[in-house]
Amino acid sequence: MRDEMTRLETYTSEIEAEIAKSRLEALGVTVVLEKDNCGGMRPHLDLQAGVKLYVVDEDLDKARDILAAGAVTTTTETWTCGGCGEKIDGSYDACWKCGRDRE
Ligand SMILES: [Zn+2]
Repeated sequence: MRDEMTRLETYTSEIEAEIAKSRLEALGVTVVLEKDNCGGMRPHLDLQAGVKLYVVDEDLDKARDILAAGAVTTTTETWTCGGCGEKIDGSYDACWKCGRDRE
């Protein structure tokens, strides 16, 4: 399987990138991080090149919505939207897809 991927974000630290990646993956988005720090041997290079986050094209809009949805909080149980049936990360109080409040 060779999905087309698009760069969604570039992070200045690997930590930020990993947090974003885990948020997206928790919601079923396929994410790949590209790090230019020579496999962690020279982590200071992160600040120059950044850590690039790629998302498969079909999940791009969803991924943007997820990352735009607010601050990073601790991961909690997912809930199912009563409006559209979407699985929503427990850190959100409203559906990212249809905007319905959590019940
Ligand atoms: Zn919904």
